[in-house]
Amino acid sequence: MPLPTVVVQVDPSHPSPEILAEAAARILRGELVAFPTETVYGLGANAFDAEAVRRIFEAKQRPFDDPLIVHLAEIEEVEMVATEFSAVAARLASLFWPGPLTLLLPRHAALPVEVTSGLDTVAVRIPSHPVALGLLAACGVPIAAPSANRFGHTSPTSAAHVVEDLDGAVELILDGGPTPLGIESTVVDPRPTPAVILRPGGVTREQLEAAIGPVRYAEPGERRAASPGRLPRHYAPRAEVILCAGDSAEAIAASIDEHALRLIAGGRSAGVLAASEVHQELKSSLAHVFDLGGWDDLLGIARRLFLGMRTLEAAHVEVILCHLVPAHGLGLAVNDRLRRAAHPLQK
Ligand code: AMP
Ligand code: MG
Repeated sequence: MPLPTVVVQVDPSHPSPEILAEAAARILRGELVAFPTETVYGLGANAFDAEAVRRIFEAKQRPFDDPLIVHLAEIEEVEMVATEFSAVAARLASLFWPGPLTLLLPRHAALPVEVTSGLDTVAVRIPSHPVALGLLAACGVPIAAPSANRFGHTSPTSAAHVVEDLDGAVELILDGGPTPLGIESTVVDPRPTPAVILRPGGVTREQLEAAIGPVRYAEPGERRAASPGRLPRHYAPRAEVILCAGDSAEAIAASIDEHALRLIAGGRSAGVLAASEVHQELKSSLAHVFDLGGWDDLLGIARRLFLGMRTLEAAHVEVILCHLVPAHGLGLAVNDRLRRAAHPLQK
């Protein structure tokens, strides 16, 4: 039986204590609450309630071998979920928490195995969004929360996206407007030297290296072993995504035009998801275009990326033509999501 899903508007900077108390009461009763974080919307449950945590996997249709991130209100709560906080982990936490950095720590035995999919590490972060922090503080328990979308689909950056994917599967959605960063947290394993980035995200490699020296990216195979749920195809809209290459806006636009012509000739509908500079160079006039904003504004692009994918998906285009962005700073996380969205479906 589908649940009645209640959507409540909440001020993103100053959430009402009454609304947060109601949401916290629901979490403590074992219900699921979706809420905005600075990255994307999360689907939260009490991390110590195994039954509620299982419901997260069911609601998302997420495989049980893909572990969840545990969210905390403050750094003192680390000891509730982890047995160790190394000097490197503590330094990263002191610099980037609250914020979009997730650290792998040795798992505390009190945490239900469902949260970590049986792994001996737990992924932990303190989010910086006032609604997420307010909810965590009101609950007094850590909240396990993956992104509030159907597994494998484009991540949700607004409450409307959560409704699209999870209406009837979540009790309450706190609508705090669009999420400020728009892309997920960086997942770091701080235990080896150098520390390993398992997923690029909101905290950049440059920021991490300024804090602790060299870090490296996990190889794809290594990443799958360390982080079992991470699939090559993820963050994907229902449309096919094609990455069009070129070393200038003009060259990318020419590649998009070429693809567009071929698709149209084959009777397929296409949409374009591209930076403003590329749109200016396009010759083809496709009905469905989404402007990601200026090429150099990587934060703006990160913020609009998933909205763009969902907007074109909602227009029922069969193919989305897009391109990678400069490979530095947030561009690495944006390109990771684009590549995963473009990865072919396993037939
Ligand atoms: P999501 O919250 O949906 O953005 O996904 C969280 C991601 O964090 C998972 O897909 C894993 O890649 C990663 N993760 C969570 N817990 C662990 C863990 N204990 N070890 C390795 N990776 C983890
Ligand atoms: Mg996710």
